[in-house]
Amino acid sequence: FIAVGKSWAIGCPTARSASHDAQGEDRMKIDVLVVGAGFAGSVIAERCAAAGKSVLIIDKRDHIAGNAFDESDAHGLLIHRYGPHIFHTNSEMVVDYLTRFTDWIPYEHRVLAVVEGQTYPIPINQTTINKLYGLSLDEQGVAEYFNRVREPREPIRTSEDVVLSSVGRDLCDKFFRGYTRKQWGLDLSELAALVAARIPVRTNTDDRYFTDSFQKMPKEGYTKMFARMLDHPNIRIEVGTDFASVRDRYEWKTLVYTGPIDEYFGFCYGKLPYRSLRFEHEHLAGTSKFQPVGTVNYPNDHAYTRITEFKYLTAQQHSGTSIVREYPEAEGDPYYPIPRPVNQDLFQRYKALAEAEPNVFFVGRLAQYRYYNMDQVVAAALTTAKSIGV
Ligand code: FAD
Ligand code: UDP
Repeated sequence: FIAVGKSWAIGCPTARSASHDAQGEDRMKIDVLVVGAGFAGSVIAERCAAAGKSVLIIDKRDHIAGNAFDESDAHGLLIHRYGPHIFHTNSEMVVDYLTRFTDWIPYEHRVLAVVEGQTYPIPINQTTINKLYGLSLDEQGVAEYFNRVREPREPIRTSEDVVLSSVGRDLCDKFFRGYTRKQWGLDLSELAALVAARIPVRTNTDDRYFTDSFQKMPKEGYTKMFARMLDHPNIRIEVGTDFASVRDRYEWKTLVYTGPIDEYFGFCYGKLPYRSLRFEHEHLAGTSKFQPVGTVNYPNDHAYTRITEFKYLTAQQHSGTSIVREYPEAEGDPYYPIPRPVNQDLFQRYKALAEAEPNVFFVGRLAQYRYYNMDQVVAAALTTAKSIGV
């Protein structure tokens, strides 16, 4: 039995049957409908097309590439519309796959945090400790310092547990508590451990944000990479198209849904919380470099969390420079699932509904309600493609 588009309807299971039958017989037949043209949707579209299936990929935005979308601004600088996207991974499989669609340029991201008017490397490292406290500790000395100031916690459940148990209260309050409050609207103690655990603590002087074995940026940008991925005779792309508007026009055998899972089910168990951002882009003509590294974090000052200068990420030469400030917001596009147990419980209820949907695959940051990086989404999408049988 292959369920076609008729099995779809927005709403919780009981509401579904009501909108179920208003379908005509003249709908276009396709093998796979992919909702969302970000990493999750585009990878699966490409895999299905390569396996000979006819694919329609839609996105409600007016472009492909999802949150990784980049474009030339009015001054010719490549910018990331939805905030800085730095590619890093330890997965050879993901690199091998994406390398079919792009060349790469090397880029190792570095971040400074401004605390009481001074800049310090973040992740916290030997340089951070020595500069902040006027010390000259070596690696062993910094390890001993952390041992003296840490507040061991058992078990480690929250992000506060993570930070206090590794660097103690002073560093927690200077570098983490304010940033987290701004970014999430919550205290560190209200967020799952995995949020702060993204940021390591180092005793050496390594000041790279990531230590993954592969740290490179797509040479001509993300959007070009996506365009190549989707450039296949079996793929039709419709942007500016919401899922709701195509469900009566097409009949599909398989649906791949990469939007918010709660929206798919008509929010029947209530809204899953997401954190949003407002991006303030600015071009500074005549300023060739605005700041010393790709990103500067402001844990305790300003309404924005960080400023990123794109030139560092893209290696472009230009007499001016383009930057973006990120202002966290409660309402707006859903950018971040909010990792905390109560939200995970709600997600599990939607997940149970998702598992009961025949021939529908939920994948990606919003559909899986998971704080995924890009490479993790690619890996998840490749796994889903295998489950689809392509
Ligand atoms: P998305 O890219 O969100 O794609 C989903 C698409 O579905 C969207 O384009 C949306 O418009 C569309 N859609 C939703 N609902 C519908 C509907 N009903 N009808 C039609 N279309 C719909 N990761 C890294 O690895 N490195 C980074 O440096 C990094 N920085 C980030 C910075 C920010 C500010 C943010 C928000 C994320 C960052 N990420 C980073 C994470 C990265 O953006 C995601 O992992 C990745 O883009 C998720 O891909 P996706 O396909 O799951 O989701
Ligand atoms: N974080 C912080 N201070 C910093 C950097 C990060 O407190 O200077 C915390 C904060 O809670 C943030 C989380 O660590 O949301 C993850 O940071 P990351 O840079 O990975 O966030 P993303 O790039 O995903 O927004």
